[in-house]
Amino acid sequence: MERTLSIIKPDGVKRGLIGEVVRMLEQNNLEIVAMKMLHMTKQQAEGFYAVHRERPFFQSLTDFMSSGPAIVMVLQGENVIARYRELMGATNYKEAAEGTIRKAFATDIEQNVVHGSDAPETAAFEISYFFSQLEIL
Ligand code: GDP
Repeated sequence: MERTLSIIKPDGVKRGLIGEVVRMLEQNNLEIVAMKMLHMTKQQAEGFYAVHRERPFFQSLTDFMSSGPAIVMVLQGENVIARYRELMGATNYKEAAEGTIRKAFATDIEQNVVHGSDAPETAAFEISYFFSQLEIL
């Protein structure tokens, strides 16, 4: 059993895509074991994306991630990190495969609707960034 952190980013919430994204998770048997809405401060977004601190888009990314409410979820299942990343599609929506969330909905390399952890270590950090053990089924 593996867990991963999923975020419906502020563009997805603003554009009314919460239901569409959750429907795709459910249809692909990605089990949601925790979920809440929050509006990150700039400082919280910087902490979440600390690994990207040196990237040229760090300021813009953390401005975007703190620009409005987001949905954070924990998904659980066998091989869920890779399965969810496959469903998200490539970071750049122009390269995302048919049937992926980003292919269906993303409009921009930065405003790409969803986030997903990329490895077990990052998943553990990211889940604990937003959830206590008591909030996860
Ligand atoms: P992910 O794992 O597919 O989300 O991609 P990364 O970990 O490489 O990047 C994290 C997030 O930074 C992405 O989801 C985008 O929102 C943003 N991002 C990545 N590459 C770029 C870029 O070249 N330009 C800008 N503006 N944002 C980017």
